[in-house]
Amino acid sequence: MSPAAKSPAAGGSAQSRTPKSPAPKKPAPKRRPSKPAPDVVARKWAAQLEKKRPGLVPFVLDRLAEANGRPAWQHRLDPTSELVLTILTANSADVNAEVAFGALRDRYPSAPTPPGASLEPQYFPGWGGVGLPDLPAPDWSAVEAAPIAELTDVIRPGGLANQKAPRIQAALGALRANGGSYSLEFLRDKPPLEARDWLSAIPGIGKKTASVVLLFSFGTPLMPVDRHVHRVSGRIGLIPDKADADQAHDYFLAMLQPDQMYEAHVSLISHGRRTCHAQRPDCEHCPLAPRCRYFLPKAE
Ligand code: SF4
Repeated sequence: MSPAAKSPAAGGSAQSRTPKSPAPKKPAPKRRPSKPAPDVVARKWAAQLEKKRPGLVPFVLDRLAEANGRPAWQHRLDPTSELVLTILTANSADVNAEVAFGALRDRYPSAPTPPGASLEPQYFPGWGGVGLPDLPAPDWSAVEAAPIAELTDVIRPGGLANQKAPRIQAALGALRANGGSYSLEFLRDKPPLEARDWLSAIPGIGKKTASVVLLFSFGTPLMPVDRHVHRVSGRIGLIPDKADADQAHDYFLAMLQPDQMYEAHVSLISHGRRTCHAQRPDCEHCPLAPRCRYFLPKAE
């Protein structure tokens, strides 16, 4: 049947057509409430913590300072050396990372050792190794250009050399490509989170490594959360039970004043190494026990 045969003008009955009832309205799809941003969640947590357990942060810092001294920031290494050293420490003892870093300096020297330079290692609080002598950085272009098998061999004493050698070369390549040189000095004056984002955009560099580089090289107020900081702060209840180490960075940034970050990082690491061990923490001799939720589940 053609469309014209159905028209009233063409002899069809208009009354025989029942008006279409409007289609039932579909219920509007329920909107899921959008997840609040991590920094918003962290600020809320910090405010609630202060309300429910007032003064917990200063309590922790003061008690640890009474036991071990109050750490003050001091310059350790240039930022590129700090970055490579931090890559070398991943899943390795700090003392082994130091040996590997020393081997890089020996194999790829950028300058002769200055006459009269001390070869005595300089120890830094919170560090798990014996320290490094204050010597010129390795020649980063030679490290980046080295045959991978050779570089792997050089850093083998640091452990996991097969993973770390390509990671170091990739990081150095990214620095050269992005900044035009191996220097990271330009990050000194950037806002902390912008600098951290710049560094952590490099494949293989996470929030922790970026924060370590910026905090130790420039004193940028950022809080690196390693496994010790994460474990100790989780046990005390400074961060939520379920927060992973990555999320813990946001909680600490919300909880600490800028001038508390270096102290908190170093003090919590030292406490994790000396007392709050992963296995069998020494709670009986811990100055934080009165307010620690691991020791006293209802501690305030
Ligand atoms: S009381 Fe025990 S679990 Fe709590 S911080 Fe001290 S050593 Fe760690």
